[in-house]
Amino acid sequence: MRSLIRRLFAGTPPAPDPVSWQAVRTRLPWLRTLDDGAPSDEGSSVDVRPGSREAALQALAARFLQHKTITPIGDLVLDDSDRLLLAALCCLPLLEFGEEGLHGWSQLIVYPDAFRVNRTHVDAAGVMHEWDDELIGEAWESGPLVLSWADVQADIAEPDAGFCVAVHEMAHKLDALDGLLDGTPPLPRHWQQAWARDFQRAYDGFVAEVEAGRATTIDPYAAEAPEEFFAVCSEYHFSAPQVLQAAFPAVAAHLAKFYGRPPLA
Ligand SMILES: [Zn+2]
Repeated sequence: MRSLIRRLFAGTPPAPDPVSWQAVRTRLPWLRTLDDGAPSDEGSSVDVRPGSREAALQALAARFLQHKTITPIGDLVLDDSDRLLLAALCCLPLLEFGEEGLHGWSQLIVYPDAFRVNRTHVDAAGVMHEWDDELIGEAWESGPLVLSWADVQADIAEPDAGFCVAVHEMAHKLDALDGLLDGTPPLPRHWQQAWARDFQRAYDGFVAEVEAGRATTIDPYAAEAPEEFFAVCSEYHFSAPQVLQAAFPAVAAHLAKFYGRPPLA
């Protein structure tokens, strides 16, 4: 029994069915160029096997589907292709980091559209404030990842617009892996120091620009907090890398190392 359970939970999941993967590949623009420019592409015009980054993403997506429950809310229906698409999208930021990036949570909740959450806060005078927030995604610390399906679709429809809510929330998950949501994911010590220095410098400059009321090429939401700056810049890495490169070259270089070459570069 024990060995069976171990095999069930620890075994390598089968790769996604090639027909289903092809369908997801057609739907997700970021997948099609993953291996562009890679040495393995040379002289392989008749070779239709996935390149190494695409194969790695397939393995990650299979692992995602093996370990995470995907729960649609309300009247939303997700078929197998939708589930594989969500798994592939959430694993896109893990191509370099690896499957350890899936650690510590087990559920993806998908709302049909933007969803309301109730917030409460007790201020210093003991007065409770209560309000509603409308969200398109949320990442609970060691809890579920929550996405709006309509917004995932909107990101896919305009893949180079600088938005990708699944990547944004996965960046929060990676950030929280070291127990601290601060805009720095777990990294080797020397890299972490350089990362913290370069991100802090870019963030401080950005906050100053936003506070001065200047128009910015990067979404001003990134000025909310260092962890939002990291999550928003991660979205640009995948969906508008040139904009990120022009705005914060040092940050773009760290993210290119952390996530791998941007698929739309
Ligand atoms: Zn966020």
